[in-house]
Amino acid sequence: MATLPNPADINPRQVANKSDKKRLLEAIRMTLGVQSPAVRHNTQTFNRNRYAATALLPDYDALKDRARKIKENAIANLPELLRTLEAAVRANGGHFYLAKTAADANRYIRDVLVRHEVKLVVKGKSITSEETRLNHEIEAAGITVAETDLAEFILQVADEQPSHIIAPALHYSRERITALFKRKFTTDLPLDTGEELTKFAREKLRQQFIAADAGISGANFVAADSGSLMLVESEGNIRMTTTLPPLHIAIAGIEKVVPSRTDFGTFIELLPRSGTGQPLTSYVSILHPPLKAESFAAPGKTAKPREFHMVLLDNGRSGMREDPILHEALYCIRCSACLNSCANFETVGGHAFGGETYSGGIGGSWEAGTGTLWNARFSELCTACSRCISNCPVRIDIPWLNENLRQRMNLDQPTSAAKSAFGAMTGSAPEDRRAPLQKQFFGNYETFGRWGTSLASLSNTSMNLPGARAFMESVFGVDRRRTLPPFPKKTWEHLYREEPAPKPAGLQPPLVMLADVFTNYGAPERGMAAIRVLRAIGLDIVLSPAMPDGRAAMSQGMMETARRQANAIAPMLRRYIDEGRKIVVLEPSVLAMLRSDFRHLIDDQTTWTILAENSFEPLEMLWQVAQRENLDLARIFPAGRSKHGSRLFYHSHCQQRTCNSASQTIDVLRAAGFDVVTSSVECCGMAGSFGYKREYYELSVAVGEDLFAQARRADQEGGPRALVASGTSCHEQLFAGMGREVLHPAELLAGCLE
Ligand code: SF4
Ligand code: SF4
Repeated sequence: MATLPNPADINPRQVANKSDKKRLLEAIRMTLGVQSPAVRHNTQTFNRNRYAATALLPDYDALKDRARKIKENAIANLPELLRTLEAAVRANGGHFYLAKTAADANRYIRDVLVRHEVKLVVKGKSITSEETRLNHEIEAAGITVAETDLAEFILQVADEQPSHIIAPALHYSRERITALFKRKFTTDLPLDTGEELTKFAREKLRQQFIAADAGISGANFVAADSGSLMLVESEGNIRMTTTLPPLHIAIAGIEKVVPSRTDFGTFIELLPRSGTGQPLTSYVSILHPPLKAESFAAPGKTAKPREFHMVLLDNGRSGMREDPILHEALYCIRCSACLNSCANFETVGGHAFGGETYSGGIGGSWEAGTGTLWNARFSELCTACSRCISNCPVRIDIPWLNENLRQRMNLDQPTSAAKSAFGAMTGSAPEDRRAPLQKQFFGNYETFGRWGTSLASLSNTSMNLPGARAFMESVFGVDRRRTLPPFPKKTWEHLYREEPAPKPAGLQPPLVMLADVFTNYGAPERGMAAIRVLRAIGLDIVLSPAMPDGRAAMSQGMMETARRQANAIAPMLRRYIDEGRKIVVLEPSVLAMLRSDFRHLIDDQTTWTILAENSFEPLEMLWQVAQRENLDLARIFPAGRSKHGSRLFYHSHCQQRTCNSASQTIDVLRAAGFDVVTSSVECCGMAGSFGYKREYYELSVAVGEDLFAQARRADQEGGPRALVASGTSCHEQLFAGMGREVLHPAELLAGCLE
């Protein structure tokens, strides 16, 4: 990182393509240095507004199911829908063109404009036209293009690409826009407020609308049966683009076609709420072009007859449709909820977490589908935290897409004797041994945990020898600034065998605690605390053998290793369930494997369903039993007995929240008498191996800053609160950022036992 240039010297376009890893690092540095405050403020505002808006929808889940179904059916029947749409557009009097490639689309549009002797074209926001680089083609034909969306206007002036799907200039603060306009335009106006800037841009744009010969728009949805377009916007510029000039060209990807205009209703409910958190955007237009009303004519001019062209773009989408993984990305309705709920995106925005056109977690699949696989390299910034899945209105499993992209990139790497030997030694499946050493190192955590704990003193001493961290950094990409937790002398399995089990009180259900590898080799005392807490309320609990579950391998795109591990651990756990036990899982990322990710990985889907329905987070289980048995938790775990005090700052794990098993921990702690302040960040930024990696350490720390700031604010009244977190990664991040002990809720409760 030390050789990277000054962020102020980099233009986003220089680093738009990140197939070269160096440029990905430069982009991270650039955005952290220049754009991060504005990106954070704007995305987090959208995110808060979305939570508030969707909470008011009584049928939010049903709406999401309906939206998903519409898109699934539409993509399944796409060839037929396209034929229906073509007939409808032609019957309406419009022209229809199905462009196989971006170049075809550009050529067609340029030819139409040239044929009409267009001098000036006004454009509404269209990411599809960004994908084809339409402006360059039109301008090369000597035609002026005026972007009329305020944000696109700013980007056109700045010569930058969008950094967000719905708010393309969201990385600009008001001050930066003022400075930009002052630099690019001759004006004496102060331009110090949002209103002044908007008025200034509006006056410039009005002249363009009046003079324009043609308007180019996108389309949020296209109805096959009628040829109608749905367009959602905030400024009214799209309405003017599509209604004032005589010539209207709409360009959209083929995935935007839905069967009927009646399908628009579901998306009108979901799209604005998921994007900006508005119940409805200021303008929703449903057009049936070509319009019947006369086009606009400037004073003294005659109105020309209207003409409409529907240009639908394939450009790789048919290939995505056939692709078992990328297929799902075609359901995307481009709402941006996944961007705004992503802690990494919130910190750097789409100029780092994005490619030449598409950004955010879903952007990788779009760049790979419409461009090349390596255009999707930025999807490495997806930590698979899963926060976007439940916020996506069409329920796309974005981390799964990104993990598969990672696998494809691993497979696209040259093989080497060092990688093969290292993989064979550490446990990579043969198919995964092309993966870089860094990925195989983090993907085989279980092996290193086993080796490290079996010779803990030697391992810990070696890690602190001079040169050891430099070696790990250069060979495995482990950033030397990140503190490595020491290996414990005894594993969780070992400690469990040493501790006599009390006679069970017969409370139901009997449990098996999964000895996940992260706790077994990293925090065995934490695991024992959870066992003691569950035993304290009278539950019978045993510990399973420690086995890898596939999480570490999957996060590195080592899918075959993950599949083998998942298929080995699943039957072992299933046997406990068949004996009548429920599973409890301390590490939330492993709980998410059982509840969700195993559906992709294990062959026996019945076993996945059984595991998903019978797996619980320990305090989630405790809360269920306490409610059912009417247990007095303040008597069993009196907060007043805690040597850490009763004032807590609690940060729940991202996957714990996606699994809906976070609120029960807070309920338990409060019922025990603790005063709990909770964090509201989506993710701590550590995210397993992510925060250890040399390339991403700085981003990880920057993401963590929001969490540290919340913890510090909570300390301000009444002094420091005990720091409590449920995930292994969150512990490491909070400890690094706050410099003081971090406890698991179970450790806190165990400390209150007599
Ligand atoms: S899984 Fe997490 S990191 Fe990945 S895109 Fe979704 S929110 Fe972002
Ligand atoms: S993936 Fe889902 S959340 Fe993200 S933009 Fe598409 S529809 Fe919205």
